[in-house]
Amino acid sequence: MAGDLAEVLFSKSAIEARLSELAAEIDADYRDLNPLLVGVLNGAVMVMADLSRALHIDCAMDWMAISSYGMGTQSSGVVRILKDLSTDLAGRHVLVVEDIIDTGLTLTYLMQNLASRSPASLEIMTMFRKSDAMKIEVDVKYVGFDLPNQFVVGYGLDFAGRYRNLTDVGILAPHVYS
Ligand code: 5GP
Repeated sequence: MAGDLAEVLFSKSAIEARLSELAAEIDADYRDLNPLLVGVLNGAVMVMADLSRALHIDCAMDWMAISSYGMGTQSSGVVRILKDLSTDLAGRHVLVVEDIIDTGLTLTYLMQNLASRSPASLEIMTMFRKSDAMKIEVDVKYVGFDLPNQFVVGYGLDFAGRYRNLTDVGILAPHVYS
C-alpha cells in the first residue's frame, strides 16, 4: 500500500511534531473553556484522535458526516448532511477539526450551518490546506500544513476508500489511477 505513493510529502513524525505545536496553542487558547471538538467524518478521524490526545485541557468530541468527493478526485460543491451532531451547540466553544480544506466549499456550508446553532465561539483547525485552491475565503484559526494543489492520500485521506490508514501523507503513483 505504501508502495502506491509516488512521493511522501509529510511523514508520520512531521505530522506528529506539527500536531503537538498546534495542541499547545489550542491548550492555551481554550483553557477552562471545555471546547467541543467537532470532527468531520471520515477524513478527520486520525487528526481528531491524535489532536485530542495531544491536548491537556478538558474537551468533548462529536462527529458529523457530510458528502464531499464521492469516488473521484474533484470537489463537487454538493454538500449534504449524512450524520448530524448529538450535542447542543448553544453556548459551547466549538472547534471544527478538519483533515483538509481544498475549495473550502464543504467548510463554508458547514460553518454557516453550525453558526446558526448559537455556539459561544466557532473556529476551525485543519491538518492540511490547499491555499491555491481556495475559491471561498474561509477563516481558519489553526493550520497544520499548506499543500501544493495536488490530490493527496494518507492520514485519514482516501482515494476510493483506500489509503486512509497510511501514516504518511503523499501523492499517489500514476499506476494507481490506470
Ligand atoms: P472542499 O469542499 O474544501 O473542496 O473539500 C473538502 C473535502 O474534500 C475534504 O474534507 C476531503 O474529504 C476531500 N479532499 C479535498 N482535497 C483532498 C485531497 O487532496 N485528498 C483527499 N483524499 N481528499 C480530499
